[in-house]
Amino acid sequence: MTDIRANLERVRERVARAAERAGRRAEDVLLVGVSKTVDVGRIRQAIEAGVPALGENRVQEARGKIAEIGRPVPWHLVGHLQTNKVRDALELFDLIHSLDRLELAKELDKRGRARGCAVGTLVEVNVGGEASKGGVGPDGLGELLEAVAAMPHVTVRGLMAIPPEAKEPDASRVWFRALRKLGEQHGLSELSMGMSGDFEVAIEEGATIVRVGTAIFGPRGGV
Ligand SMILES: *Cc1c(COP(=O)(O)O)cnc(C)c1O
Repeated sequence: MTDIRANLERVRERVARAAERAGRRAEDVLLVGVSKTVDVGRIRQAIEAGVPALGENRVQEARGKIAEIGRPVPWHLVGHLQTNKVRDALELFDLIHSLDRLELAKELDKRGRARGCAVGTLVEVNVGGEASKGGVGPDGLGELLEAVAAMPHVTVRGLMAIPPEAKEPDASRVWFRALRKLGEQHGLSELSMGMSGDFEVAIEEGATIVRVGTAIFGPRGGV
């Protein structure tokens, strides 16, 4: 049985130490507990233990969980978003980490207008240029941001990246640094980067949001 409270406590200590090493404040790093495949009972344990926000990667899965749990903490969408799921996503999520194409931005703007709100997003950047991954290439980022800037119902708060898989946490450092540089170039302050294997390095490189699943909830069985 995974001790979620103890795991969360340990992750928070590691976040605090990494922030301290970087001369930053731990409060400036939002810890998102990624609860994909995790059942409602265990998510509730994390909420009771004080997880500040939750992340899901599929709209469908999140819908059932949020219907049961409600929103005592904000929910973030960290996974790919299909345009035909946008309407549902806007009902469920406080922040969408995965804006990665113009077509999706247009749909978010349209649905945001219908709801009378501006949709909070991060633009996902494919920093490693991997064919298997979503995200706009670093070269296409400027153009996408420019187009979205003209959309009144979409707000870009920052950037998100899932760097190439690596054996050593330190191997992700160059990718995190690249994302930070892109954020600086475009005047975007939020950086969603770092997962269970590398969130400390991400914080050292400027992450303002880390997305941590396994280190809080334990291994995802059978997925
Ligand atoms: C699953 C997932 C995470 C969390 O991964 P862990 O290695 O379990 O911490 C973070 N970000 C995204 C986009 C994910 O899909």
